[in-house]
Amino acid sequence: MLIDHNYIAGRTLKEWKLKHPLIDDLISAQEVFWINPEYKTSNNPIPIEEKEIHEAETRLIRFAPYIAQAFPETQHTGGLIESPLMPIQNMQGYISKRFNIEIPGHLWLKCDSHLPISGSIKARGGIYEVLKHAETLALTHGLLKLEDDYAILNSPKYREFFSHYSLAVGSTGNLGLSIGVIGAKLGFRVTVHMSADAKAWKKELLRSKGVQVFEYTSDYSKAVEEGRRQAENDPRCHFVDDENSRDLFLGYAVAAYRLKEQLDKLKIAVDSDHPLFVYLPCGVGGGPGGVTYGLKQVFKENVHCFFAEPTHSPCMLLGLATGLHDQISVQDIGLDNRTEADGLAVGRASRFVGKMIETLLSGAYTIKDEELFILLQALNKTENLQLEPSALAGMPGPARVSKTQSGREYLKQFDLEKKMSKANHIVWATGGSLVPKEIMNQYLNRRD
Ligand SMILES: *Cc1c(COP(=O)(O)O)cnc(C)c1O
Repeated sequence: MLIDHNYIAGRTLKEWKLKHPLIDDLISAQEVFWINPEYKTSNNPIPIEEKEIHEAETRLIRFAPYIAQAFPETQHTGGLIESPLMPIQNMQGYISKRFNIEIPGHLWLKCDSHLPISGSIKARGGIYEVLKHAETLALTHGLLKLEDDYAILNSPKYREFFSHYSLAVGSTGNLGLSIGVIGAKLGFRVTVHMSADAKAWKKELLRSKGVQVFEYTSDYSKAVEEGRRQAENDPRCHFVDDENSRDLFLGYAVAAYRLKEQLDKLKIAVDSDHPLFVYLPCGVGGGPGGVTYGLKQVFKENVHCFFAEPTHSPCMLLGLATGLHDQISVQDIGLDNRTEADGLAVGRASRFVGKMIETLLSGAYTIKDEELFILLQALNKTENLQLEPSALAGMPGPARVSKTQSGREYLKQFDLEKKMSKANHIVWATGGSLVPKEIMNQYLNRRD
């Protein structure tokens, strides 16, 4: 193949394939399961200290009175944007049958699909970054003190103030939705640069809120690049940089501390006898990376995190396995980055995130689009829960760990085999509650 002679970071693809035979399986768009050889249970570098995650947590608490007032649907959580953790026993039985393997332990769904305000995991990082920016602006202009009741921000005076500033973001859909909804509510002018994958309903919803939406015929990386370029020329514009943002990452990391509270309340132990497995759908990496980073801070070697990507967009797996991070794209190896899992349609991973998690992540795997829809329909049938396709990527995780040879070797290496009957598995459901009914019906009736 011609592409074999393409140079990627100083070597031909052929050479990269010799070094990492897994690339051949990725190229053929097969489902793969990869254990991270760099994974370490101790002595990991700590580029972000726990203190910073707690600061983010505290900031979200300062904003809670504002959120509760501006978004009444968050009143029952006192203005905290949080999602339920639900047992999905029927689905556990289904997965066991479908993949013909016993799934010992308990299976849970972390329902970020039902996060208030924007119905996806982006309601964590995206909203956090906008709130932090708004707070900084108001503080530096003497319009706000840390001790104030932040509900005052929900007034014409502050909206007028924020209207002199703007926000921009590049997105496959859900990040744009989160930034757009919270930004417009605060009074900012918001521009969202949407990749070709973005669903029409997400763009329409944003336009209905007064957000300016630019559409691109190319993929996510290009939309981000354009957004970044346009924002550069405007000192009053804050660009939410999905590929490099520490604030987004921190907003996602807070989820781990919230999850710990939920597990404590349910009296679910996570310790050396009760391992926790977490399966996270991955696009550019920020959402699953931030959550993983937080989880490793909280649960250390007792939590095992796996990323899940579409077979046509395995950018993080490719970046981690080769160690090239953002120096290699799925297009470089001949994949088209086309998937119905729009939230995961990213061809080039974030280097920032890849470096943050390269020794923390246990592994990653890929899943075919057809399988996402089968699982979407099964979850609807067994649990009456409706998710968007991206959000199902984590679902086969427990079966993959138990069934694949490399998964079993991992369990053996970390002495987990005998503990699996006491394990908890959390599938991170990353989006879906805002999908319009007609589109959800199409998903539910789709036959491949
Ligand atoms: C964005 C998104 C993800 C992945 O998050 P990244 O930060 O891009 O890795 C997963 N699922 C859904 C539904 C998303 O919108």
